[in-house]
Amino acid sequence: MTRALITGITGQDGSYLAEFLHARDYEVFGLVRGDDAAEQLRERLPFAEPLRGDLGDLASLETALAESQPTEVYNLGAYSSVSRSWEQAERAADITGVGALRLLDAVRRSGRSDEIRIYQASSSEMYGEATTSPQDEATPFAPVHPYAVAKVFAHQIVLTYRRAYGIFAVGGILFNHESPRRGPDFVTRKISRGVARVRLGLQDHLTLGTLEVRRDWGYAPEYVEAMWLMMQQEEAEDYVIATGVTHSVRDFVEAAFLHAGIPDWEPLVEIDPGLQRPTDIAELRGNPAKARDRLGWTAATAFEELVGIMVDADLAREQARTAPATTGGERRGE
Ligand code: NAP
Repeated sequence: MTRALITGITGQDGSYLAEFLHARDYEVFGLVRGDDAAEQLRERLPFAEPLRGDLGDLASLETALAESQPTEVYNLGAYSSVSRSWEQAERAADITGVGALRLLDAVRRSGRSDEIRIYQASSSEMYGEATTSPQDEATPFAPVHPYAVAKVFAHQIVLTYRRAYGIFAVGGILFNHESPRRGPDFVTRKISRGVARVRLGLQDHLTLGTLEVRRDWGYAPEYVEAMWLMMQQEEAEDYVIATGVTHSVRDFVEAAFLHAGIPDWEPLVEIDPGLQRPTDIAELRGNPAKARDRLGWTAATAFEELVGIMVDADLAREQARTAPATTGGERRGE
């Protein structure tokens, strides 16, 4: 059995990746921060073995590697919210940025660095104010917020360790990917949940910071397959993973309301400029040609379908939440 260690296993991508690897007969280990998280992981992904650790603590990473003896390590752990990275910039740099360096050092010091492959969760946000579009593996990074600056550090140190120590370490530069498991603070979940609640009469409007930014949105379960494919290649290289198509937040809102059967949606959306970030990027669009040609990977789920999946899941979840207690718990509908 191949053994894989996932940091960030409790997050959106971590849970999908764990399921993906388990279906391929991997033995899956997940880094968790604390006993509650370990307990929740056992309930949610009973096949995965929780290991206590933190990307801020090198010794805990060394212990997790020693206990799991993996041949594949997926570093998905991060302070992954752009807004939160403004509020806690130093912590974002330490966990999202230096955390990757700690993991690389833990692998290097394990004595098994020639047997271990590492995946680093890099991000399209690193392109920031890129002057060319679409962005590909050769596009220079121009980050504009603390999260992206930290991700650039992590990406570059992966490249540096790959060159200097010959470690098999890849950077997957993933554009936005969403699902019903997206955290509720992210704009797509905020929309799908808000629309579901409006549809069910639980709230009367949706408040957003802007409708104008455009992103390249894909469906998360497909993106974890791309991570795995990168790790199966002969050479460690970086890949852009994207749909190649952008939509605005307005498009997302409209598609969500239409899916919920509410065509006259504009009076139900309030814009609060106070929710806008200090800097925001107008558009990010990826060029997934290398992933298509070399990994045989392409995004399959269309934008409207993705929005529909998220709205349906939130409708089911909100209905379950408001129904009598016997009808079930919080995660129903995913
Ligand atoms: P997510 O749902 O926010 O999950 C983040 C994970 O990081 C959680 O499991 C969290 O654990 C863990 N974490 C936070 N602080 C940690 C620490 N100090 N030590 C160890 N783990 C820690 O993120 P996601 O959407 O799954 O994304 C996965 C990765 O891909 C992240 O690195 C993200 O930045 C990157 N990425 C995501 C996208 C996207 O569109 N989703 C695009 C490009 C790159 P707790 O549950 O304990 O908080």
